[in-house]
Amino acid sequence: MEERVHNFNAGPAALPLEVLEEIRNSFLNFKGTGMSIIETSHRAVAFDEVINDAVERTKRLLKLGDEFSVLFIQGGASHQFCMIPMNLSLPNKPLDYINTGTWSTKAIKEARIQVEDVRVIASSEDKNFSYLPSGFTVDKDASFLHFTSNNTIKGTQWKKYPDGGDVPLICDMSSDFMSHPVDTRPFGLIYAGAQKNLGPAGVALVIIRDDMLKRIPNNLPTILSYATYKDNDSLFNTPPTFAIYVIDLVLTWLEDTIGGLEEMERINKEKASLLYEVIDESKIFKGTTDSSCRSMMNATFRLTDEELEKNFLSDAMKNGFVGVKGHKSVGGCRASIYNAVTIESVKSLANFMKEFESANT
Ligand SMILES: *Cc1c(COP(=O)(O)O)cnc(C)c1O
Repeated sequence: MEERVHNFNAGPAALPLEVLEEIRNSFLNFKGTGMSIIETSHRAVAFDEVINDAVERTKRLLKLGDEFSVLFIQGGASHQFCMIPMNLSLPNKPLDYINTGTWSTKAIKEARIQVEDVRVIASSEDKNFSYLPSGFTVDKDASFLHFTSNNTIKGTQWKKYPDGGDVPLICDMSSDFMSHPVDTRPFGLIYAGAQKNLGPAGVALVIIRDDMLKRIPNNLPTILSYATYKDNDSLFNTPPTFAIYVIDLVLTWLEDTIGGLEEMERINKEKASLLYEVIDESKIFKGTTDSSCRSMMNATFRLTDEELEKNFLSDAMKNGFVGVKGHKSVGGCRASIYNAVTIESVKSLANFMKEFESANT
């Protein structure tokens, strides 16, 4: 295929074209080393510069204070579901979770395998996770409050984060990490699987606050302790070097080409509103979530008629719009419009939806 498609995949997902071109251009001879980055030792200077640059850029982009460390851990976001309770539960203190969708549900399940007192203090399960709960109380004795900032499958996103009081927040930011500025101060730990907004699959970027490190029991398997990653600058064993290299390129693009997270947010808002305007004005497309909390990253919608929905999805595919089918567990449609999805791609999809509606009403 000559042309690149309009990529609305939910993850692994679109990466900036400039990044892909840079990978191609430096692949055979990375920075004069005479080899590719994936043939280089993770202890070599060339890789050291890459991982340090990725850490520094993360700190600058998120304006992280000195009390935070940036770690790279294999196994994706799901691996964090078990590492968090293992490392950060305080003895005899409950774990508070907010359940807002598929990924939160999985995180809660993993916590319950290890800790007896796991409390779901708020949930939107009663309405199929189509909204975000409010009016809940966090146990002031809780070890932490865990929530998911953006619900990739259901299409909701917190606009204002839950208030944990003195209880540290722990957040799965996999699908909206680096899509807008965040006040990180209330967070004890933030994690994000890379394959949505950051790079290739298989690694999670983890941000941990110093006081959390004091909680880590010393009888954990070495590879499952956050202290191991912190003490060895994520180089205890061989890290996923290619993934980290691509993440560094994506962060470079975010900082130097886009101009930071304020600008990224402005662009993301513009993209999301292009799609939601079509949905709001349409007689055949319908949003699936409360409009007050719909996601800027994953726009979920349905068509009023099942047959029409099938036709829409197959026409979309034929016209070069990839990944518009909803997650297999919920059906419907979903356009994932992560950082790297261009405004041109989103405009094309919005126009295609309008044309489809005129042709079918
Ligand atoms: C994709 C996703 C995950 C799972 O990530 P893996 O790297 O496959 O484990 C977890 N949480 C959220 C919010 C996601 O979007």
